[in-house]
Amino acid sequence: MLAGSALAANLVRTPEAAAAQAPRSGGRMKLRFRPFTIQLKHVFTIATSSRTTTPVVLTEIEYEGITGYGEASMPPYLGESHESATAFLSKVDLSKYDNPFELETILHDIDMLAPGNPAAKASVDIALHDLVGRLLKQPWYNIWGFSAAKTPYTSFTIGIDTEDVVRAKTKEAAEYKVLKVKLGRDTDKMMIETIRSVTDKPITSDVNQGWKDRAAALDMVHWLKDRGVVMVEQPMPKEQVDDLAWLTERSPLPIIGDEGVQRLADIPKAKGVYHGVNIKLMKCTGMREAHKMIVLARSLGMKVMLGCMTETSCGISAASHLSPMVDWADLDGALLISNDVFDGTQVLDGKMTLRNRPGIGVRKLKG
Ligand code: MG
Repeated sequence: MLAGSALAANLVRTPEAAAAQAPRSGGRMKLRFRPFTIQLKHVFTIATSSRTTTPVVLTEIEYEGITGYGEASMPPYLGESHESATAFLSKVDLSKYDNPFELETILHDIDMLAPGNPAAKASVDIALHDLVGRLLKQPWYNIWGFSAAKTPYTSFTIGIDTEDVVRAKTKEAAEYKVLKVKLGRDTDKMMIETIRSVTDKPITSDVNQGWKDRAAALDMVHWLKDRGVVMVEQPMPKEQVDDLAWLTERSPLPIIGDEGVQRLADIPKAKGVYHGVNIKLMKCTGMREAHKMIVLARSLGMKVMLGCMTETSCGISAASHLSPMVDWADLDGALLISNDVFDGTQVLDGKMTLRNRPGIGVRKLKG
């Protein structure tokens, strides 16, 4: 009788009664964020710059007592900073959403708040994905339908340095099955020959737009192929689209776009200019768009690499859930830092090793 009455009452409820029963709106999802500075273990030098720290912002989204974690990593040459990310995140109001599962709506709205700010946007995207995974009690590789056993090896990056340092770093990297070498200065052949004096493992290379002449670039790609290099990332400036397409047509190694490819809309334009793309959460606003980019690139017959900045294990763990889908993973960002504040996806024997934990699989260590 009671149950029947309750059912009847429910069927004839007034608009006022329905409003009283609806989920309470306002203030249910709370975004917090704080600036943090990553310390690098070694001075990190690429074709265009050197540095020993990276500014990041750590985000948290709390909902009904559960917290999701996110991160924005902002190497200075990309234009974001503690100040810009803090200003952007101050504009994000999650209290107007009742349902954290509405990822498409929420993340679209955040993307529309202001142009640019891809890392700041990623920090919300990652925290929201982590929260949703925790609410579902499932890791994202399960939600997306990937096998955790099919993760790739990650490359370990050797920055541009003196012969002695390069030799020492190569020896230190014994655990890793693939080395990534930074090229693009006048020391390119020394870098490769020094590594080859220590090991014959596969090498991926990243020129960071350092070569300017396409014929010289093609000669260099042949030289690299003869020495066991397996691919070349961003050989020339992203603006030299015709030269890049010329090189890609002739290159004996896959040419991968990084600086020239930021977001989903760049993928169709990259077809023909590069053989593949390097996708990074901090360039493309996070996990949701990265997943779409991988699917689109694959449908166009392109290769896919998953990269990172120097990041804590928060950002790296988020990316690692996509790694079973890619040809090459370059997710060594947390291995290069000395003050990680998360425990998450590990690199074991060189392989990305996902945790069977909900969300992105991280635990906060301190702070
Ligand atoms: Mg790169």
